[in-house]
Amino acid sequence: MYMTTDQIRDAYLKFFEEHGHTIVRSSSLVPYNDPTLLFTNAGMNQFKDIYLGKEKRDYVRATTAQKCVRAGGKQNDLDNVGYTARHHTFFEMLGNFSFGDYFKKEAITFAWTLLTEVYKLPKESLMVTVYDKDDEAYNIWKDIVGIPENKIVRIGDNKGGLYESDNFWQMGDTGPCGPCSEIFYDHGEDVQGGPPGSPDEDGDRFIEIWNIVFMQYNRKIDGTFEKLAKPMIDNGLGLERIAAVLQGVHSNYEIDLFVELEKTVASILGVSDLNDKSLRVIADHIRSCSFLIADGVLPSNEGRGYVLRRIIRRAVRHGRLLGAKEVFFYKIVSKLVELMGKAYPELVAQQALIERTLKKEEEQFLNTLDRGLALLENELTKLGDSKTVPGDVAFKLYDTYGFPADLTNDVVRDRGYVVDMEGFDKCMAEQKARAKSASTFGIDYNKELKITENTVFTGYDGLESESKIT
Ligand code: ATP
Ligand code: MG
Ligand code: MG
Ligand code: MG
Repeated sequence: MYMTTDQIRDAYLKFFEEHGHTIVRSSSLVPYNDPTLLFTNAGMNQFKDIYLGKEKRDYVRATTAQKCVRAGGKQNDLDNVGYTARHHTFFEMLGNFSFGDYFKKEAITFAWTLLTEVYKLPKESLMVTVYDKDDEAYNIWKDIVGIPENKIVRIGDNKGGLYESDNFWQMGDTGPCGPCSEIFYDHGEDVQGGPPGSPDEDGDRFIEIWNIVFMQYNRKIDGTFEKLAKPMIDNGLGLERIAAVLQGVHSNYEIDLFVELEKTVASILGVSDLNDKSLRVIADHIRSCSFLIADGVLPSNEGRGYVLRRIIRRAVRHGRLLGAKEVFFYKIVSKLVELMGKAYPELVAQQALIERTLKKEEEQFLNTLDRGLALLENELTKLGDSKTVPGDVAFKLYDTYGFPADLTNDVVRDRGYVVDMEGFDKCMAEQKARAKSASTFGIDYNKELKITENTVFTGYDGLESESKIT
C-alpha cells in the first residue's frame, strides 16, 4: 500500500498511541548529558537512564520518531552512503519502548500487526531472525504469529565471542542486555543479495527493516548474567527503509523525500541523470548537515564539529563531480525545510543559520579542493601497479588542502585504491609531536587540531574506544 514518508511516521505513532504508548518528541542529535555518545544513533538513547534504573517517568510505554546520525562514531555508516541502498548518515528511527511493562509476545505481535495490517505488507515477503538460544522468541514467531520455519533464521555468536552476535544486544560491558530479533523484507529476485545469515547477506535484496531488542538480563562486572525482574523492550523501525518497501522501490534513495531532494540538486547543478550516485550522496548529506547544525553543532577541527566538517566536504566534492562551478550546497536547504520542517520545526527556526554555515564552509573548502584533487591525481599516476595511496600523501592532502582522510578514500575507492591509514596516523602523530616541541616557544600551531580518543556510547554496540575522528 503506497504511503508517503509523513503518512508512515504518523501511522506508526498513532498505532502505538492507540496501544497505550505515550508519544515522546525526538531528542536532540547531541546527546543530553551523555559524554560517552558522539551523536544520538538510536531511539533508545534518550531513555537510557530509565533502562539503567536511574530514572522513572510517569509512563511505562513510549513511542518516538527519533532523529539519528550514524557518522563518525563506532556505528559509522558514512562510508556506506552511495554504496548501499539502505544506509544514510541521518535517518529517522521509529521506536516503541516498554519499561518493565510488556515483553516478547506483545513486542513481536505489535510489530507484525503494524506491518501486515496497517502497512499491509505481504507476509510472504517477510523473514525474521532470532538469537539462536532464544527458543522463546523462535516459538512466538512460529506458533503465535505463524511464520513458516524456513523463514525464521537463528543467528548465533557470529562476532567472535560468547554473546557476541548481531542478535545479542548489550548496552555496555555491563548493564542491561539481551537477545534481539530482526525483521527483513525481501525486495525480490532481481536485486542482488542473500537472506540473513548467508554469506551474501550484506546485499540489498533482504533488507533489515525492524530490530526488536529484548532486554532480559543484567550483565555484571564479573561477566555473569542475572535475570531482570522486569524485562524491557526497545524497538526500532527505519522510516526510510519501510518507505522504500511501501512505495515499491528497491532503494531508500528512491523514496518520495529523496527523489524531491535529488531533483532539487539536479536542477541546481544542471544534471540530467537522476540516478547519479553523487546526487544521492548530496541528498543524504544535506539532511545530516542541516539537522546537526539545527541542533547546535558547528563545523570545527575536533569532535562533533569535525564529523560535520567531514560530511560537508564530502558533499562539496560530490558537487564538483557533478560539475558544480560555484557554491551550491546551501541552496538545497530551503527544499529540505519545505519537506521536513513540519515534522521538525527546528529546521524552520534555524534555516538561516544552516544556510550561512554551509555557505561559509563550502567557500573555504573550495579554495583548496581543486588543487588537492590535482595533487592526488598526480600522485596516483606515480603509483604504478600499487593500489595503496601512501599515508604521507593522504596526510599532505589533509594538512595542506583540508581533505579529511575519509574524503580521500571516497575519491579513490571506486577506482580500487585504498588509503594507507596506518601511515596516515603515523604522520599525524609525528606532526603532533612537532607541534608539542614548537609550543615550548610559545606557539602551538595545532592548538585547534585536537584529535582525541573519544569513548563513544554506541547505543547498540556498547562502550568502545573510538580511535581518532579524522
Ligand atoms: P544494518 O545491519 O542494516 O546496518 P543495523 O542492525 O545496524 O542495520 P539497528 O541498529 O538495528 O540497525 O537500527 C534499527 C533500525 O534502524 C534498522 O533495522 C534499520 O531499519 C534502521 N537503520 C539503521 N541504520 C540505518 C542507516 N544508516 N540508515 C537508515 N536506516 C538505518
Ligand atoms: Mg548497521
Ligand atoms: Mg543489522
Ligand atoms: Mg539491527
